[in-house]
Amino acid sequence: MPKWAVFRCPGTCSTVYRLPLSAAHTPHWSISVDWLGRPSCSPSINQKSACHAHFWIQSGTVQQCRDSRCATSPAR
Ligand SMILES: [Zn+2]
Repeated sequence: MPKWAVFRCPGTCSTVYRLPLSAAHTPHWSISVDWLGRPSCSPSINQKSACHAHFWIQSGTVQQCRDSRCATSPAR
């Protein structure tokens, strides 16, 4: 069981996120992987310090929230 999810911001700022997955951390995130190996995470990731990206990952695809300010594509 991995303890951290580490990935780069889907926006243009190239911030590297380190999200704790352990329930010992507050807050923490949960990652699930479907039978095709595509990860999903919850809750959404809201970067308030550097780039204001707000997104989540669903079936391996980054979904930008409407209020994200670090989007590379129009918010859906
Ligand atoms: Zn960003």
